[in-house]
Amino acid sequence: MIPYGRQSISEDDIKAVVDVLRGDYLTTGPAVGAFEAALAESVGARHAIACSNGTAALHLASLAIGLEPGDQVIVPSISFVATANGPRLVGAEIVFADVDPDSALLTPAALEDAISRADPQRLKAVFVVHMGGNPAPMAEISAIARARGLKVIEDACHALGTEAEDGRPWRVGDCAFSDCAVFSFHPVKTITTGEGGAITTNDDGLARRMRLERNHGLEREREGFGNEALAFDTDGATNPWYYELTRLGLNYRLTDFQAALGTTQLSRLPDFLRRRRALTARYREAFARLNDDSLSLVPAPASSDPALHLMVALVDFDRLGISRAKFMNRLRDKGVGTQVHYIPIHRQPYYVKASPTPELPGADRYYARCLSLPLYPDMTEADVDKVVEAVRAVAQG
Ligand SMILES: *Cc1c(COP(=O)(O)O)cnc(C)c1O
Repeated sequence: MIPYGRQSISEDDIKAVVDVLRGDYLTTGPAVGAFEAALAESVGARHAIACSNGTAALHLASLAIGLEPGDQVIVPSISFVATANGPRLVGAEIVFADVDPDSALLTPAALEDAISRADPQRLKAVFVVHMGGNPAPMAEISAIARARGLKVIEDACHALGTEAEDGRPWRVGDCAFSDCAVFSFHPVKTITTGEGGAITTNDDGLARRMRLERNHGLEREREGFGNEALAFDTDGATNPWYYELTRLGLNYRLTDFQAALGTTQLSRLPDFLRRRRALTARYREAFARLNDDSLSLVPAPASSDPALHLMVALVDFDRLGISRAKFMNRLRDKGVGTQVHYIPIHRQPYYVKASPTPELPGADRYYARCLSLPLYPDMTEADVDKVVEAVRAVAQG
């Protein structure tokens, strides 16, 4: 069976984890800072804050930008539910935006439409998703958002390694057009730590707040202390055991063995990206040869060099006269695993109640046709050929 995605673990990855297990620190040790430094350097951001998963990263970002109950945020309806759940967990109301029907990316027009449905007094932020690894049009989105004083958070969980040109060259995670960018290191993502996540930012204040929130909200810096009687010895030195709870926080820490895996995975990132780009190119050539109007691949945005996480095919199931479930089952019978990314979030029962949304035709049109084909670094060119042949056979069935 060729799965739709899977991790690539090398002997060096295994050794890095085992070395930590034999060492002194399983958590809050030096491996976490080393991973954060390597990630920040890799994406070109000033700070990286590692945490327990991508959902925690979205929650931390939502807390750090100061979202409060009753605030509103815009989230595109095509994403994993966590993009909406992060801000929802701090009590924000989600205003779902439509997406481009072919790329599932937020567009400037869809953003304007969502803004027109929001309450200008309560609207605070826009969450942008680089769906599948394709970059959203960040320069335009950020210009629209900034003009209204909105924060911009990138959900970059699919897009580590993606580069684009938006008036100037930028890289996902460098936060050239955003306040922060959020990553997940779940096994199907571009690099993995098992479970894991991170936020990158160039804002010192946001970075400091996220580090506090990640660790219970415990202040350990002298400048942050409010209770002088408890904090200091008679000579004014800080008491060595002292910490202070100044804001309510969480335990969203990443362990040292996960961070060590993250660092070796990052050292393999250039190879992973080369493989993802080569396999994507092979898919594109093979689909062009199929020359079937019912079968296409999500196009890459102009002036972009995406490192795709998902190889999403757009299949006209109605025209082929076959349901998506049957199509998937027949592919599975041929040894090919597929997935659907994603059910529009505004159609989830929880959000139907919490955030009533008008029709979003782009999201519905994308959802009706999307099917994620296998894409992962250890896949071979022969695997791609097998997948495409299976798709052709089922479609022309
Ligand atoms: C994977 C993912 C998340 C959540 O990450 P976890 O590490 O699974 O919590 C959030 N948003 C998107 C777009 C994702 O793909």
